Parts: sequence; structure tokens; C-alpha cells
Amino acid sequence: MAHTYAVRRQFLPYARPLIGDEEVAAVVETLKGGWLTTGPKVKAFERAFAEFVGAPHAVAVNSATAGLHLALEAIGLRAGDEVITTPYTFAATAEVVRYFDARPVFVDIRRADLNIDPAAIEGAITPRTRAIMPVHIAGQACAMDSIVDIARRHDLRVIEDAAHAFPTRYRGRMVGTIGDATVFSFYATKTMTTGEGGMVTTDDPALVERMQVMRLHGISKDAWKRYTAEGSWHYDIEAPGFKYNLTDLAASIGLCQLTKVEAMTERRRSIAARYSAAFSEVDALETPSINPDSTHAWHLYVLRLNHDALSIDRAAFVDRLAAHNIGTSVHFIPLHLHSYYRQTYGYQPTDFPVADAEYRRAISLPIYAAMSDEDVDDVIAAVLDTAQQGRR
Ligand SMILES: *Cc1c(COP(=O)(O)O)cnc(C)c1O
Repeated sequence: MAHTYAVRRQFLPYARPLIGDEEVAAVVETLKGGWLTTGPKVKAFERAFAEFVGAPHAVAVNSATAGLHLALEAIGLRAGDEVITTPYTFAATAEVVRYFDARPVFVDIRRADLNIDPAAIEGAITPRTRAIMPVHIAGQACAMDSIVDIARRHDLRVIEDAAHAFPTRYRGRMVGTIGDATVFSFYATKTMTTGEGGMVTTDDPALVERMQVMRLHGISKDAWKRYTAEGSWHYDIEAPGFKYNLTDLAASIGLCQLTKVEAMTERRRSIAARYSAAFSEVDALETPSINPDSTHAWHLYVLRLNHDALSIDRAAFVDRLAAHNIGTSVHFIPLHLHSYYRQTYGYQPTDFPVADAEYRRAISLPIYAAMSDEDVDDVIAAVLDTAQQGRR
């Protein structure tokens, strides 16, 4: 079938947040209120987020990276320890392990959903293993029942990287209520944003206590009150902590975004459905597989190319979409292919063959609530045209 269309005039960015008048008004109100950094808005955001997820505790931080670092610190990770995770992820997941001089131990992924392969985890456990860090890629949950079971049998902690998975339900349970700690991201491209920000949920009061102290210089809890009527000038440093606190400015954006996140997810779900309907019959394209154990937050729509049916490679496919004024991205260049991990651990591309092969054919299409129906039409037309022109 031949299709004709005009290349859209304006570049469609790969991602863009949905910020309304409510967010603008909330930030202005906070600015005028005079309390800019961690205070009542952060407390309210933590309470609202914990309630949304159904977790007993939520600890706000200024990024998911900070949250992952604090969670590992709170479980007592030490130099020389090992943490099992996936190479198919963003830099942050493994770099936080390196902060401790501990070792990220990668295991390969499942082809279908790009998540860590639970069958590969047990073989990677050694006497030094302390934790498993699953990453819920694109917004579908990992095989958490298997992962939690392995962790219990080997006395390991489970710290989930849920930067893509808000909101996601796994076998009826919200991601954020399953592992020992779950870390969410509010970076500008994520399913909801505070500009920069993150949240850690947990049901472990000891982890909450430690993360609350360590996110603000290791100063005894609630020291932020020292500039209020309730506070006093006195504070005590319990440990050399970090500067990871979220601001009230960011939290006021987060409180608004939280009320919209279900509607935004519904919009992404309908965009994904349109993409998959349009591409599922095209030989050159493989649409994302749906895991029946998980809902999908659709942070990413990862289209995979079937190179057997194409004469052009992934880079050329991306370039042609850009020539159609469609922005795309690639998730992820697996960590074991990056120079730091190759040089430090001697990894070869073939060490994680599934991650390597799937990365080489992955393209992330724009999928966000701020897209119009016409934007979605344009992406579909550009992808179909590129697949048609580039077929073997
Ligand atoms: C975005 C992302 C992070 C980091 O989130 P920040 O809030 O930017 O620190 C961590 N892990 C994954 C998988 C991500 O995509």
C-alpha cells in the first residue's frame, strides 16, 4: 500500500512534559509562601504519593539516582559487595553501586519484555551478593514473585528501579509495595515530573529512618524545622550524609502531576494501542510484547526492527525519522558496552547476547500525554513510510 503525506513542518520532540496552569499556579503560590526548600509541600507530596501507591512510607529525594544511592546506603552496602542487576538500563542503576566501591553484576534480559531474566539471577549469586536491583523497563514490571523468592532464599534485599514504572501494577499489587525499597523518578521525560525529583517507597521503618537522615547531610531527623516556631537551633550530625532533599517548589509540581498521572497514563496507553495496531502487520517491525502479569505505564514505546526484512540499519531508520521531523531515542545502550564497564570489568558485547541483540534493533518512539492525535498520525505515517522505503 502506498501512502502519501507531507512531512510535518515542526519537529516533534521525543518527549515533552504536560504542564498546565495548575502547576504554574502551585509554583507561584509556593514562591509567594516564602518556604522554597524542603517543608510542608514535600511532606504533603510524600503522604499523597505513599497513599497513591499504597505503601506505608515515601521518602522524597531530588532524583531517582539519589534515591537508589540512599536505598543501597540504608541496607548497609559496603565496598566489595555485589549487586545483581541488568545491563539493559540507564547509567544511574549501576553507578550508584560503584559509589560504594561495590560491584554491579549484570545478568541478561528476557527477549520479550527486555526485563532482567529471573532464570539467570541465581547463577550470579556469590557469598558477596547483597541485593538484587530489578529495573521495570518501559513500565512493565519484572518477574517480581520469582525475584523476591530468590532474594528470600539467599537473604538478599530487593531494591527496585521503578524510574519507568509509575503507575504499574504487578499481579494486582502496585509497584512500590513489593521489594524492600522502590525508587521512582520525576525527571522531565518520565511519566510524571517535578523537573528533577524522585521518591523511595518502603515498608521498612529502619530504611525510612536512615534515608530521611542521610538525604540531608546526616543531620538528625526533622532538623529542617529549625527555622520554624517548633524548631530549635540545635542539630546533630549522625553520619556524613548527602544533599538529596527535594524542594517545596518541586513538590508543589508533583502534587499537581499526581492528580493527573492516571489520565496521562490512559493517554499514553491509547497512543501505544494506535502504534501497535498500525505496525503489527508490518514484517520489518516488531511491536512491544504485553506481559499478562503486569500493567504497562508506557513510559517508553520500544519498537524493534526486524533486520531480515530491511535493507537499512537502525541508525539509518532513526535518521530517516528525523528527516520526517520525528524525534526518537534509543533505550538503552547496554551498560556492558560502555567504555567504563568494558575497561573496569573486561566485558565483551557477547557476554549478554540478548541485551546486545535487542539494543541493536530498538527505537523508542514519542509517547506522552502532550501529543495530539495529529502528532500520533505523523509518527505512524513516518514509521510506515520509512519501513516501506527501507524494505529489503
Ligand atoms: C531516568 C532513570 C533513572 C534516573 O532518574 P533520575 O531521576 O534522573 O535520577 C534511573 N533509572 C532508570 C532506568 C531511568 O530511566
